[in-house]
Amino acid sequence: MNERIEFIDLNAQRNRIAGRIESAIMRVLEHGQFIMGPEVKQFEKELAAYAGVQHAVTCANGTDALVLALMALGIGPGDAVLVPSFTFVATAEAPVLVGATPVLVDVDPQTFNIDPGSLERSIAFARKFSLKPRAIIPVDLFGLPADYAAIAALAEREGMTILSDAAQSFGGMQHGKRVGGLAPITTTSFFPAKPLGCYGDGGAILTDDDALAEILRSLRVHGKGRDKYDNVRIGQNSRLDTLQAAILIEKLAILEDEMARRQIVAERYVRKLAGVVETQAIPSGHQSAWAQYTIKHPDRDRLAKSLKESGIPTAIYYPTPLHLQTAYRNFPADPAGLRVCEKLSAEVLSLPMHPYLDEMVQDRIVAAIRSSV
Ligand SMILES: *Cc1c(COP(=O)(O)O)cnc(C)c1O
Repeated sequence: MNERIEFIDLNAQRNRIAGRIESAIMRVLEHGQFIMGPEVKQFEKELAAYAGVQHAVTCANGTDALVLALMALGIGPGDAVLVPSFTFVATAEAPVLVGATPVLVDVDPQTFNIDPGSLERSIAFARKFSLKPRAIIPVDLFGLPADYAAIAALAEREGMTILSDAAQSFGGMQHGKRVGGLAPITTTSFFPAKPLGCYGDGGAILTDDDALAEILRSLRVHGKGRDKYDNVRIGQNSRLDTLQAAILIEKLAILEDEMARRQIVAERYVRKLAGVVETQAIPSGHQSAWAQYTIKHPDRDRLAKSLKESGIPTAIYYPTPLHLQTAYRNFPADPAGLRVCEKLSAEVLSLPMHPYLDEMVQDRIVAAIRSSV
């Protein structure tokens, strides 16, 4: 009898560390400091050390992390924030929430990440709208770090800053540098299905900039000053629960091992699917965190249906690029069009991917793909 195949197997991870997680939760219940308890500070220290940056400031979720980062950078009305159109909605939602204008950019057909050529056109286009291009938010899609060298060159020339949306890529690397240190400011999410996920909502902002970190620590607690009842700026209520921090400490302890396992799973897919279907290309010197393993197929919907009939779960990230979604249709976008985003939305399919996917199950997935294409 074939066992059920999971798209992301969170139970396998839980079984591995259940005892440690339960004791961590019990410790929080006993000390009772549910907001900003000692585990929050400990987790922030360990998170920053893992990423190789000076500061990690946790918050309520990955969307708030983006909003808080934009607030800390002083981005608001009249400013343009350049974002890829092929991403989760939060990347473009955050600039709107601070009163700025998202400008939607096309992506690269091989890496699925923001395309520097389209970025350049879109910056010029934003200026025509009398917007001030202030920031670029590259997304490390499916875990693959974006082309930070090309983006940094452009950002410097245009006097813009880079805010990396690493919600899917925490644990990934580029040219020996960990995600978190690839941009002046990086955000991530601990949504349960992300490579480093908690048991609820959570997020963090990473930076080497002391002044920015101090502003972020104030912003997440209503804009507090030195005295809690003297608020020095307009902020939010956006903190990571102590319980989630306690859980994340245990999960971060096995992240390195899980990253190695994901890498093995991804390499097997690469090898077994070579010449069968196209997959997201990983440029040399890049290590994806493999939030998703994504293939492309011109008859994607038929392939997904056939896999489903073989008991193989798949997912489509993302069926509609942002510039075609109702709420985002009227924002400026690359005047040359966003054809790659549109084509990818029609062709991508994400396969089961998690650190505990064993080779026999993977062989069943690959066999089903081979017989369906
Ligand atoms: C998940 C995700 C977010 C938002 O994270 P939440 O914690 O769900 O708010 C932002 N950007 C990208 C690319 C994501 O995948």
